[in-house]
Amino acid sequence: MNLPVSGDPVDYCPDTEGPWDVIVIGGGPAGATTAALTAEYGHRVLLLERSTVPRFHVGESLIPETWWTLQRLGLIEQMKQSAFPRKYSVQFVSDGFRESAPFYFDEHRPQESSVTWQVVRSEFDRMILERARELGAAVHTSAHVTDVLFENDRAVGVQAQIRRQGDTQRVRLAASVVVDATGQSAFLSSRRKDRHRDPRLLKASIWGYFRGARRDRGRDEGATLIMQTPEKKSWFWYIPLPDDIVSVGCTADLSFLFGPQHGTAADVFARELKRCPAMQERLARAERLGEFLTTKDFSWSSGQGAGHGWVLVGDAFGFIDPVYSSGVYLALKSGEFAADAIHEALSDGDLSAERLGHWQPMYRRGVDSFRRLVYAFYTPGFSFATFLKEHPEYHSSLVDILIGDVFRPGLEDMFDAMQPEQPAPSG
Ligand SMILES: Cc1cc2nc3c(=O)[nH]c(=O)nc-3n(C[C@H](O)[C@H](O)[C@H](O)COP(=O)(O)OP(=O)(O)OC[C@H]3O[C@@H](n4cnc5c(N)ncnc54)[C@H](O)[C@@H]3O)c2cc1C
Repeated sequence: MNLPVSGDPVDYCPDTEGPWDVIVIGGGPAGATTAALTAEYGHRVLLLERSTVPRFHVGESLIPETWWTLQRLGLIEQMKQSAFPRKYSVQFVSDGFRESAPFYFDEHRPQESSVTWQVVRSEFDRMILERARELGAAVHTSAHVTDVLFENDRAVGVQAQIRRQGDTQRVRLAASVVVDATGQSAFLSSRRKDRHRDPRLLKASIWGYFRGARRDRGRDEGATLIMQTPEKKSWFWYIPLPDDIVSVGCTADLSFLFGPQHGTAADVFARELKRCPAMQERLARAERLGEFLTTKDFSWSSGQGAGHGWVLVGDAFGFIDPVYSSGVYLALKSGEFAADAIHEALSDGDLSAERLGHWQPMYRRGVDSFRRLVYAFYTPGFSFATFLKEHPEYHSSLVDILIGDVFRPGLEDMFDAMQPEQPAPSG
C-alpha cells in the first residue's frame, strides 16, 4: 500500500445532454456539496470531475463546525459508522518544545458536534459525491473541463473532454450557472489572472504516511498534533488515521524546504525531524508507506468570487494554510452558501454576480479570522500560551476559531489585543 486510497477506481458516465441549470467543475468536498444541495432543491445539476473515484487527496483533519454541513447532507450516521478516528482536540507544541494543554472542543462546547473526525480523503470525498448522486446530481468522472464558455461577460457553459468506454469526446455543455470547484487548479481565477498569492505565506509542505507511530490513548488517540521547530522555522502535523496509519507532514517557507542546496524531500524531512524531538520520538518505530509527497504555493485568494452566471467555491476561491485544518470546512461551507445563493438566483431569474456571490463578503471576513490566527502562529516571538496568560478573556474566542465558528461577529477584539500582526483587508 502506498497512499491511503481505498477501493478500486470507478468511472461514472451518465448522459450529459442536459439541459442543465448548474454545471459544477470538480468533485472534491466543495463541488460535491454544491452539487448535492442544488440537486436537493430540484435543479438539474451536472458535476464533472477529471479523475476517477476514489482519488487521493491530502487534508485529513476535520474541525468540529463541519458537523452542520455534514448533517444537512445527511451524512452524520455514515460518519459515525466509519472507521475514521474521533478527533476531540488539537494540541500545539511550541518552538521552545512547550506543550500546550490540548484544546478539547467538547469542554468548550459540551455537545455532540464538538467531536469531529480524521478522515481518509479518498473515502470521505467519495461519500459526499455519492450523496450528490443520491440527491439527483449527474456525476461524470474522467471528465476534464478545458474551458468555461462566455457570451459577453456571462458564463453560459463549459467545454470538456469526456472519456466514455475508452473513447475521449470533446463536448460543449450549456448551463445557467457554472460553479468552479477545481481546488488548487483554480480554473477561472487562473484564466482571469485574478489569483493573488499571500506574500506572507509562501510555504511548501513535505509529507508521508507511516504505520506504527506512537499514539496516545483514549480521548487523545485521534488528536491532531502541531509541533513547531526552533525559531519557528518549520512545523509538523501529526494526524492519526485508521489502520494504525498516521499522516505526518512538515511545512515551512518555500525557500527553506526546496532548492538544489537542500537535497531530496526525504533528506529535508529527515533534517527537520531532527529538529523536532517530540515528533522524532513518535516516529521512532514507525515504517513509512510509499514515497514522500510535496506541494507548494497553496496560500492565495481570488479577487472576484462571482460573476454573471458563475461562482467560485472551496480552494478555487482561495486557500490559507493547512495549520488550523480549515480547508475542508471552508470547502463544505462555501459549497453550502453557494448552493443556497444559486437556488435563490435561479428561482428569481437573476444570475448576477451580486446574487450568486452575496454570501462572499461575510465568508471572506470569516476566512480572515483563520488568516489572522495563521499570521500569529508564524510570527517570531509570538506565543499563544503567553497571550492567553495575559488575556485569559480571549480563550473562548480562540477556541471558537479552532472549532470553525468564524462567521460570527465579535472576534476582532482578540486580534486587536494580539498585536503586532494584522492582515491586510482582503477586499
Ligand atoms: C499540505 C496541505 C495539507 C492540508 N491539510 C488539511 C487538513 O488537515 N484539513 C483540512 O481541512 N484541509 C487541509 N488541507 C486543505 C484541503 O485539502 C482543501 O482545502 C480541500 O481539499 C478543498 O476542497 P475543494 O473541494 O475545494 O478542492 P479539492 O478537494 O482539491 O477538489 C477539486 C477537484 O477538482 C478536480 N478538478 C480540477 N480541475 C478540474 C478540471 N479542469 N475539470 C474537472 N475536474 C477538475 C480535481 O480533480 C479535484 O478532485 C490541506 C492542504 C494542503 C496543501
